[in-house]
Amino acid sequence: MIIRKERVNDFLNGLRAGYRLYAPVQTQAGPVFAPVNGATGWSWPAGNTLKSAKEVFLPQTETLFTYRTSLDGVQVEEARVEGRVVLLGVRPCDARSLTMLDKVFAGEGVRDPYYTARRENTVVLGLACNEPCGTCFCTSLGGSPFGTAGCDLLWVDLGDRYLVRVLTDRGKALVEGRPEFAPAGDADLAAARELEEGALGRMGTVPVQGVKEKLDRLFADPLWDRVYEKCLGCGTCTYLCPTCHCFDLTDEVIDGLGVRLRTWDACMYPLFTLHASGHNPRPTQKERFRQRIMHKFKYFVDNFRETACVGCGRCIRYCPVNIDIRAVLAEISAG
Ligand code: SF4
Ligand code: SF4
Repeated sequence: MIIRKERVNDFLNGLRAGYRLYAPVQTQAGPVFAPVNGATGWSWPAGNTLKSAKEVFLPQTETLFTYRTSLDGVQVEEARVEGRVVLLGVRPCDARSLTMLDKVFAGEGVRDPYYTARRENTVVLGLACNEPCGTCFCTSLGGSPFGTAGCDLLWVDLGDRYLVRVLTDRGKALVEGRPEFAPAGDADLAAARELEEGALGRMGTVPVQGVKEKLDRLFADPLWDRVYEKCLGCGTCTYLCPTCHCFDLTDEVIDGLGVRLRTWDACMYPLFTLHASGHNPRPTQKERFRQRIMHKFKYFVDNFRETACVGCGRCIRYCPVNIDIRAVLAEISAG
């Protein structure tokens, strides 16, 4: 299908009756996904957003339930997850990361009710990357700048129009019968193919073959003494990473009224593994840094048979001391 750019506003306005819209909104720090009213107040950023789309499904802080304690007992009230959402402009790496989070929060024998309700209620409208950033390496990890995993629709920017690939029934329901769309022609498909080949041709490659097998035997290797050295433990890489998903649960209670909160946490912080006894099994930043790499490229593979990194490049772009995960992987690969 094709939609001309001047018709996008009509399409989005039509959605507002049934859906809440989220799109990349510019903030002082960079673009982040936030609720929008229609076609104004937001834009597709040139590269990826600062924070990934995971926040829409796993908010940085969320109330799970509230409760009131009294002499009669405890009354619990579950938090309500908002209704139907359309998430606009998710890059293919971020959309693919949702399929990894699904394994953790909605996989075999697991059903996180808050995450799964948001996933079921949300249509993911992906946007292909015609111009991947210099820090992107999705293709080294099985992804693509035009990848469709995790998307309900994939839009490709053809200049004055978008080619729209319909990938799921949920995506189909959004566009079917809408007057803004027309069938795509051969020229549209050829233009999209040319953009895809150009984008693929510009992607850098990172040596990741055999990294899992190397990590199986590198736990005590001296290489960790070198690669972690600059790390400040700021946690930026984990918070911005679309696949990092560790969280903490806390209760806040005032006068018998309590709130159970879930908040992002990170393996890069010393308190993450600090025991009540005072013992910390990851006593220095070296063990924490190793954990982050091990979790993504070994433990997640052990558990789910895929790597928990989609090559979005955020941890490379925003690390304050320029630690580059591609260099760490190259060193492991050569080890
Ligand atoms: S962003 Fe860089 S300095 Fe901060 S925790 Fe991650 S690797 Fe360490
Ligand atoms: S580890 Fe870095 S490159 Fe990989 S998905 Fe996370 S932020 Fe992106």
